[in-house]
Amino acid sequence: MKVFVFAENQKALLELCCGARQIGERIEAIVINSQDDKDTEVADKVWSIPQQDNAMLEDYTETIAALLEREKPDLLIFEPTKRCKLIAGRLAAMAGTSVMTDLIELTKEGEGSHLVYGGAAIRKEKLNTSLAIATIGPGVLQGSKETGKGEIELFPFVEPIRKIKVLNKEQKPKLSVNLPSAKRVIGVGRGIAKEEDLGMIRQLADVINAEVGCSRPIAEAERWMPKETYIGVSGLMLAPEVYMAIGISGQVQHTVGMNRSKVVIAINKDKNAPIFGQADYGIVGDLYKVVPALLDQLK
Ligand SMILES: Cc1cc2nc3c(=O)[nH]c(=O)nc-3n(C[C@H](O)[C@H](O)[C@H](O)COP(=O)(O)OP(=O)(O)OC[C@H]3O[C@@H](n4cnc5c(N)ncnc54)[C@H](O)[C@@H]3O)c2cc1C
Repeated sequence: MKVFVFAENQKALLELCCGARQIGERIEAIVINSQDDKDTEVADKVWSIPQQDNAMLEDYTETIAALLEREKPDLLIFEPTKRCKLIAGRLAAMAGTSVMTDLIELTKEGEGSHLVYGGAAIRKEKLNTSLAIATIGPGVLQGSKETGKGEIELFPFVEPIRKIKVLNKEQKPKLSVNLPSAKRVIGVGRGIAKEEDLGMIRQLADVINAEVGCSRPIAEAERWMPKETYIGVSGLMLAPEVYMAIGISGQVQHTVGMNRSKVVIAINKDKNAPIFGQADYGIVGDLYKVVPALLDQLK
């Protein structure tokens, strides 16, 4: 199978290229203006599209479509960012196919699995068109040690029929965390009573060298943490080495985002909380006593 890979972030591109070797024999990356040697180490070929002034990522859709038309890969995989999903959808419409979104598994035969009904069930699907398109989250495809041949070829930019006009650009406050690549993650939930108490969780994170994420209500309802940091079916899908759930009940919509973690530790005052069903280690207790005690010992 010939697999093409496109991602917004270089780290995701490298991870997807390495992982794609699990399912395909030939891996080719599509990048905007690649001058980075790292790209060439993981793909058999890198298609480099010249960067355009004031172009949005979506403006490269027609160029990617032209490349697909000429090179005819069997599968095109994307990092599951909003922008990449937009491009994936438009390309699928152009190619008369569909997109398998947010896959949690993809086989060599091209069968993808993804969560439906808010994470309560898994749907398996396979596209029966010559080109299949999928978006795949971090940690789903396990990396391979095989490297590529490192050839870069320029592919000319195709002017989009309807170009997006950029009126204004404003810097978004940069997130100081990169949860998908963190080896240790603390997830904090509604067990926390006040926003100030997050300080105690951050202290614990510093001590164990972890990043802090949260359950959806902490981001969406309380707005104590950025939306980009909540974990679960409608947020981030993570697979860290260690996940510590503090004051999180463990509803399925949350656990599907963390149940691929290698080790799960849960702290909850309710011994019947569903999160303990996912945990390798569980502490039944009030987090306001357990977290300071842990800090005391770990420091
Ligand atoms: C379509 C849909 C999509 C959703 N997507 C997501 C998603 O992506 N991510 C997500 O997280 N949720 C999602 N949800 C919401 C999800 O169903 C849960 O409501 C949410 O995960 C619960 O968050 P929580 O565990 O923080 O809060 P709660 O369920 O309120 O749990 C709080 C927990 O803290 C414990 N606790 C309280 N005080 C203490 C204390 N002092 N010490 C120790 N423990 C304490 C309680 O025993 C309880 O178990 C979604 C829901 C729907 C319907």
